Amino acid sequence: MKQAYDVVIVGAGMVGATLAVTLQKSDLDVLVIDRSEPPAFPGEQYELRVSAVNVGAQTLFERLDVMQSISAVRVSPMRSMHVWDEAGNGATRLRAADIGEPHLGHIIENNVVTRALIDSLAGTGRIDMAWPVEVQSLDSDDHHVTVKLSSGESIRSRLVVGADGASSVVRKLAGIEASVHSYNQRTLVAIAQTERPHQDCAWQRFLRTGPLAFLPLAGGLTSIAWHADDTLAESLREMSSGELEAAIAHHAGNQLGAVRLAGPVGGFPLIRMHAPTYWSNRVALIGDAAHAIHPLAGLGANLGFMDAATLCEKLLNHPNRDPGDARTLRAYDRARRAQNSTIVGVTDAFKHVFGSNSQAVAGMRNFGLKAADRLQPAKRAVIRYAMGIDGDLPDLARR
Ligand SMILES: Cc1cc2nc3c(=O)[nH]c(=O)nc-3n(C[C@H](O)[C@H](O)[C@H](O)COP(=O)(O)OP(=O)(O)OC[C@H]3O[C@@H](n4cnc5c(N)ncnc54)[C@H](O)[C@@H]3O)c2cc1C
Repeated sequence: MKQAYDVVIVGAGMVGATLAVTLQKSDLDVLVIDRSEPPAFPGEQYELRVSAVNVGAQTLFERLDVMQSISAVRVSPMRSMHVWDEAGNGATRLRAADIGEPHLGHIIENNVVTRALIDSLAGTGRIDMAWPVEVQSLDSDDHHVTVKLSSGESIRSRLVVGADGASSVVRKLAGIEASVHSYNQRTLVAIAQTERPHQDCAWQRFLRTGPLAFLPLAGGLTSIAWHADDTLAESLREMSSGELEAAIAHHAGNQLGAVRLAGPVGGFPLIRMHAPTYWSNRVALIGDAAHAIHPLAGLGANLGFMDAATLCEKLLNHPNRDPGDARTLRAYDRARRAQNSTIVGVTDAFKHVFGSNSQAVAGMRNFGLKAADRLQPAKRAVIRYAMGIDGDLPDLARR
């Protein structure tokens, strides 16, 4: 570790590591730190945490030469998405084939993505990496940020990037106040085998107590994500494996038949948070440090990847400019805020509309799902947006 850098990235999760890889070919001196060691090389068994990585993010990974290493471990194509409601018969199916595409994206374990990015950094040796180490304080002046680390070292950087997740310490130390809203829900995650094949389709049933999703994995396995209200989540947690398997199959309306768990069960609390600004004096926020959303649309990490690519582009557009220059950071904020705000708002609205007990709302919901299924132009536009191939994309993610 040196005493001074152009950019220090705090957090080497999927998003922070993506930014580090985008900056590998630049002339910037970059350090990336994390409080934890990077994940080990993935084993034979699926990890619990997976993400639906859309085509936009996949294009970015191809440009960064990491998609091949990711695919070499394992990825599972998602060719369609079937959404239906517990109350009524409304349903809609979004198919990649409807817009002439082979898939909507891939289901990939988070650790597979992170490991491939870290291996890419280690391979070139261009970027310094340090772990396990945490940031203790940030002190910004007109020229630098002094970063005090838990290791006792103090380094100077012209820009500090907070990629340290939803409870970002960098955000707090930079004085960016963000209100955190709890959904009073937990996601129960598990890998399971289903009796009927998933057909490379992501199945999601909206229940009054929160959506229940089955994401397609290889070998007939699925990743189950049940975003359940706290009381239900608590009772699910206390069930035996057999009871839980029966509850999952029952609440999914037996769409995929019987369910058999293929490993442990995990749980994560769900929040919504959107920082009022993504920058302050020589500090920028990306990924969950800037915005955390309900996972029902499977878009949180995808937004973060686009943050990383956009910040990289803004930094490289002016190679001779100080990377902590307010004009660069403001341009980054402006470029990302509209899309992030839309997705934060839309996922929040979905969570509330689909979680409502009201008969009238249930009627509208079912009408909406059926109408959406028939309105081909609108459906195609939604598919393209969710795939990350339309909208205001950074060049690195554009096909
Ligand atoms: C159940 C669930 C399902 C989801 N499914 C999807 C999906 O299908 N598709 C999708 O796009 N998104 C999905 N998401 C969202 C996605 O997981 C997150 O958006 C993504 O992981 C955020 O990545 P990140 O790198 O910004 O933050 P994190 O993954 O939180 O990583 C932060 C990193 O910073 C490090 N760190 C934290 N604090 C410090 C510190 N003080 N000092 C140093 N290092 C620190 C951590 O060790 C970690 O490595 C899902 C989320 C949940 C909860």
